Amino acid sequence: MNTTAAPTDNGTTAEPNGDVRSDRREHLFSLARQVTGFMPDDEGEALFLAALRAGACFDQATFMEIGAWCGKSTVYIGAAAEETGAVLFSLDHHHGSEENQAGWEHHDGSLVDQESGRIDTLPHWRRTVGEAELESSVIGLVGDSPTVSSRWTTPLAFCFIDGGHGEEPAWADYRGWAPRVVEDGWLAIHDVFPDPADGGRPPFDIWQAAIASGEFVEDGECGSLRILRRL
Ligand code: SAH
Ligand code: MG
Repeated sequence: MNTTAAPTDNGTTAEPNGDVRSDRREHLFSLARQVTGFMPDDEGEALFLAALRAGACFDQATFMEIGAWCGKSTVYIGAAAEETGAVLFSLDHHHGSEENQAGWEHHDGSLVDQESGRIDTLPHWRRTVGEAELESSVIGLVGDSPTVSSRWTTPLAFCFIDGGHGEEPAWADYRGWAPRVVEDGWLAIHDVFPDPADGGRPPFDIWQAAIASGEFVEDGECGSLRILRRL
């Protein structure tokens, strides 16, 4: 695939044979829409466009996704990685967050592995990435986010935080991953709800902390998705 053309400001691809790539993009978007998960269509496309900018801005960019679940957001970011020659590392222990466990609001019994009795979204994530034919642009990382971030040294052009939404996991993700974003790179945070009636505080709090740090500026939003750029 040709990865040399730079995306224009409106996110379309300025090249004569752009139709082919556009079809690919639409194919991936329609696939993403069908994947089980927590990413509204418009937010997914906004996520894609932010990652596309990061991929266009940095040569051989590295993208990181924290919280993959069944691969819905993975396809949106992976589509941008493929178009720009970036590589997306998609990190999850695949056992679900606290809020996904039995008895909690976001539990889905069909994702429980019958042998272990635990949620296991890895087979679903693999199927999604395989169906999307994104395996050369998307690498799965199976493990605990703070453990991985404590050993991770590659600078990130784009980082998407959508892992555990409790106080402890959200802050651990912010503290562990925000410093890995390069200057001029992007940090995206999901489930940021200014009104507590709409959702939990921790994603909102870390988004505020990022701005208050003076290291990030707001660079767009869609629904509960917030895009930040590192100064
Ligand atoms: N981005 C996904 C939704 C992610 S849900 C989508 O588009 O649908 C949050 C995910 O974070 C869950 O899959 C859960 O397993 C993962 N997660 C929570 N805490 C984690 C941790 N400490 N390490 C790795 N993954 C974690
Ligand atoms: Mg989310």
